Amino acid sequence: MINRQLFQQFVAQTSPAPVGLEIVSASGNYLYDADGNKYLDLIGGISVCNIGHRHPAVVEAIKKQADEYLHVMVYGEVVQSPQVQYAKLLADHLPETLNCVYFTNSGAEATEGALKLARRVTGRTDIISCNKSYHGNTLGALSVMGDEYWRNAFRPLMPGVWHYDYNSEELLAAINEHTACVIIETIQAESGVITPYPDWLQQLRKKCTGTGTLLIFDEIQAGFGRTGTLWGLEHYDVVPDILLLGKALGGGMPLGAFISSREHMATLTTNPVLGHITTFGGHPVCCAAGMAAMKFLLDEKLIISVAEKEQLFVSLLKHPAIKAVRSKGLLIAVQLGSDKQVAETLQRCLQKHLFSDWFLFAPDCIRIAPPLTITNDEIHAACDILLSCL
Ligand code: PLP
Repeated sequence: MINRQLFQQFVAQTSPAPVGLEIVSASGNYLYDADGNKYLDLIGGISVCNIGHRHPAVVEAIKKQADEYLHVMVYGEVVQSPQVQYAKLLADHLPETLNCVYFTNSGAEATEGALKLARRVTGRTDIISCNKSYHGNTLGALSVMGDEYWRNAFRPLMPGVWHYDYNSEELLAAINEHTACVIIETIQAESGVITPYPDWLQQLRKKCTGTGTLLIFDEIQAGFGRTGTLWGLEHYDVVPDILLLGKALGGGMPLGAFISSREHMATLTTNPVLGHITTFGGHPVCCAAGMAAMKFLLDEKLIISVAEKEQLFVSLLKHPAIKAVRSKGLLIAVQLGSDKQVAETLQRCLQKHLFSDWFLFAPDCIRIAPPLTITNDEIHAACDILLSCL
């Protein structure tokens, strides 16, 4: 109780109605609160805990690294084994042109780095982004975010940014010789799970290549098996010039990355030198944790069952109050009739120990993005509770 009061008093509040559970521990697919309640976690820290909370392999990697060294030097000066090994592991599992990793502290910083890289490589300034896209909350990332309500209060933002609808002909037509980059989510998450038309992505790739524009895919939410393949781009057979990763990248620790070719990245080494600087980006403990999580994800072949679990959710989520279910793997939006209905349903779910959330640009949708380790029995239990709360 005391902590809850201090939370309101001393911790900056941005949510007008925080969930406010006091978490005392988290393990696997469950959260435990200070009142002794156990909650089935349907959102995994918003697409972060893909292998569940506090996985033993991750905890062990953190402890081992903490015994060796923590922060030793700002980014890019000394050789740190967890960084090197994780960068290699990522490159080994990516298309061969995505072979050079810049680790950051967060997804937003990965976006910032990628936008800077695109300007540096092309010598251009114009940026095209999508309506209802989310790429982070720092000023550069906010400038490419696709929603005026969240942008407006923070103007002036970065100039030269143009927004168009995802999947639209207008966006393709707007790309020209002045465009430095197009930044898009491979699968739009915060808009309530919107998938790209495969031929639209192919055309987008073609138009970018034809005009010398860099294509940036943001897979901060879609990466690490979330959509049923290791990377979202595998569904569409399109390779971007820059890939953004975050969230599950750190296995529960803060870590982001922008990944491109060695040639592109080399532009950050000259004029100015140190073209992107970070003190903590690629922290050794975060890299050790992330690498342990990725290895577990791959070794245990967790991704294979994602499509089946998606189908189970979709087959169970039938109710007159449900207007639509949109999904790509275990990234699922359950659309109800209104924002109010969603807020009330989430509250009732919480009372029945099911933890979920809504989407930033789709508050009329309930978010389902559990750890990929969720079992079929847990999916049945979650859907029973959700349907009983509608
Ligand atoms: N891009 C996408 C698609 C995201 O979903 C998010 C966070 O929700 C970000 C970027 C920003 O990541 P971070 O919150 O780590 O800055």
